[in-house]
Amino acid sequence: MQQNLLDFDAHALAAYLTEMGEKPFRARQLMRWIYKVGEPDFAAMTDIAAALRDKLAQSACITAPNVMREELSDDGTRKWLLNVGTGNAVEAVYIPEVTRGTLCISSQAGCALNCSFCSTGKQGFNRNLSVAEIIGQLWWANHQLGKDAEGNWKISNVVMMGMGEPLLNFDNTVSALRLMLDDHAYGLSRRRVTVSTSGIVPAMDRLRDECPVALAVSLHAPNDKLRDELVPINQKYPLKVLLAACQRYLERAPRDFITFEYVMLEGVNDSVQQARELVNLVRDVPCKFNLIPFNPFPQTHYRRSSPDAIQRFRDVLMQADIVTTTRKTRGDDIAAACGQLAGQVQDKTKRNLQRSVGVV
Ligand code: SAH
Ligand code: SF4
Repeated sequence: MQQNLLDFDAHALAAYLTEMGEKPFRARQLMRWIYKVGEPDFAAMTDIAAALRDKLAQSACITAPNVMREELSDDGTRKWLLNVGTGNAVEAVYIPEVTRGTLCISSQAGCALNCSFCSTGKQGFNRNLSVAEIIGQLWWANHQLGKDAEGNWKISNVVMMGMGEPLLNFDNTVSALRLMLDDHAYGLSRRRVTVSTSGIVPAMDRLRDECPVALAVSLHAPNDKLRDELVPINQKYPLKVLLAACQRYLERAPRDFITFEYVMLEGVNDSVQQARELVNLVRDVPCKFNLIPFNPFPQTHYRRSSPDAIQRFRDVLMQADIVTTTRKTRGDDIAAACGQLAGQVQDKTKRNLQRSVGVV
């Protein structure tokens, strides 16, 4: 089988080339072609010796996940549904803004953590994505979107906020992050690459030590009682332990604050009193808040908080000097929210399967 070079970070690629009898500096040359130029064809890599190009063409490939479907929203948001084999699909979403272009990528097919309001969680866990499948989302999106007038890729920021829990696929996530940061690959600044976690405390410490990037933590509740219900991993790493890990992370973080994500669920976690409790909870952690209006999906009983409730909640945080933004609901018309499109496809397969075995 051919070796997919997207599976290698700089270190692993140099080791692979050394094994082929090549000089390690060829890795830098190759990476520039793969990531800076976006070239998948060895034959086009003109400054690499023809003999090596031939060898690579035989033994290796540069292959991003297959695209099953692409959707374009009225507001310019673009979503790709990527086939990662054996009936699994994951998604990547591009969100263009005036000053930046952000790609949201996935780390796992499904997720084991089963947060009560998350459609990815409802699908259960399927498998970890490989390095090639993670970095391949960025490679593919860059390939599709192209460069701006200054010759830079349009994607300037990456957030790991798609499907899955990146810190439970730690090694592959870190290798992919290294490629995003590597000057010979995408060369993004650590501040422009964000990992979002539901709070896997030991892995947060490892990320701080091995590859600190901007960190977003999914908080969603002001106390353990409610968070245990919404984000079950809280039973293992409760708020006190989680917030202490946030403090430790900040010692090495590229930004001097943690972003707390907070999904707004009507009548569940959106009262003014809960906002006050939240202010009290995060008192000692330098942070910003990102309020996410809940994105409904078919099998959920939750509802999105009203704009008024979100505004009132935000006011309480702002009055306590916590910078708080409300996430715009972009790409609603193409269900460009966590796990939704992939959810639709999976549901269909599940339903077909059930039909074929006579369940429905
Ligand atoms: N597993 C990681 C990253 C992926 S989820 C995490 O949980 O942080 C990215 C963000 O989307 C998280 O904050 C998650 O809680 C939120 N989210 C999940 N389902 C959602 C929904 N239906 N509506 C709004 N936000 C949702
Ligand atoms: Fe997994 Fe994040 Fe969804 Fe929770 S919110 S189930 S951790 S993807």
